[in-house]
Amino acid sequence: SDVVLEAKGLTKHFAVRRGLRDLLTREKSAVHAVDDVTVTLRRGRVTALVGESGSGKSTVARLLAQLYPRTAGDIRLHGESVEVKGGRPFRRYVRKVQMIFQDPFASLNPVHTVRYHLTRALKIHGNAGKGSAELEKALQTLLERVQLVPAERYIDKFPHELSGGQRQRVAIARALGANPEALLADEPVSMLDVSIRLGVLNLLRDLKDRLDLAILYITHDIASARYFADETLVMYAGRMVEGGDSETVTQRPAHPYTRLLIESAPDPDRMAAVGPDEVPQDKAGGEPPSLIKPPSGCRFHPRCVHAMPKCSTELPPRFELPDGEDHWAACWLYEITHKPAEPKQEATR
Ligand code: ATP
Ligand code: SF4
Ligand code: MG
Repeated sequence: SDVVLEAKGLTKHFAVRRGLRDLLTREKSAVHAVDDVTVTLRRGRVTALVGESGSGKSTVARLLAQLYPRTAGDIRLHGESVEVKGGRPFRRYVRKVQMIFQDPFASLNPVHTVRYHLTRALKIHGNAGKGSAELEKALQTLLERVQLVPAERYIDKFPHELSGGQRQRVAIARALGANPEALLADEPVSMLDVSIRLGVLNLLRDLKDRLDLAILYITHDIASARYFADETLVMYAGRMVEGGDSETVTQRPAHPYTRLLIESAPDPDRMAAVGPDEVPQDKAGGEPPSLIKPPSGCRFHPRCVHAMPKCSTELPPRFELPDGEDHWAACWLYEITHKPAEPKQEATR
């Protein structure tokens, strides 16, 4: 099948200490950063994960990259469950699923050259070939793949001798050194100059096509999701609230939060997507909720103009929507008209 990576019920609660109050109440606090998230990445497709700051996007990426343990959930690569850290499926997984970080400067070691970074990646993952001629060839191929040509111009440079865009290309080349099947790109262009962002996104898209990669593209910017991603998932306060093909989610958003996200984006084109009458006003002034005690029921209910009594007590399941490809929204507005896409979940907070 074309499914590369599948995660279900992905959950991460960070234990935190809140000082005196915890001591007095003997309560353990936790940040409910990610709750019951489902992500499917397919060969040759880009899936965007969109949401405001603190919604849990990076936590999802780090869980998928196995950078820390999950509280709950199942992660599969080609149907094979990745349970135990260090086991064979795990080692295969961390090779096949590579992460690209927001800040290429922080992710490259300033005392080492491009050659060092790429050679190390190739060697760790057993892709350096035999002998120095094969290694040179492999290095050349990596730099060509990320359009840093001629390779000789870049190979012996240190990170500070490169521009931000070139550094991010080196970070992408390093990820490709593992010969991955999936890339997790956490806001890969948000720290770059606006003028070069499109170039890096186009490079990722080109790599996706040439190498048949599955890409998770994390962004604040729902407009770039429409441009760049085949499928778009929207997160709010640690939960997934809407998903579907990017065209439908961005042009005919169903969830009140997605509409707010589009409406608050600074592009006038996007208003046309929703229509001024349907744009819900944000009655709570745009503050995301505390994830230590997340709102009960639908986590968006304190900010939602459509909120009904049950919204604050019952967690809305996904409702399948008839427009678009696999379009769904976790919102009670669609209860009467559409059937749940999965068995009703228990009301939890
Ligand atoms: P941004 O758009 O700003 O990058 P994000 O959507 O990537 O935000 P996350 O970084 O995943 O959000 O954070 C989700 C929530 O989890 C936030 O409330 C954050 O403070 C919390 N969080 C993240 N990492 C930790 C940690 N190691 N310990 C405690 N809380 C954490
Ligand atoms: Fe608003 Fe209720 Fe839908 Fe949540 S479930 S988005 S509160 S209408
Ligand atoms: Mg983040």
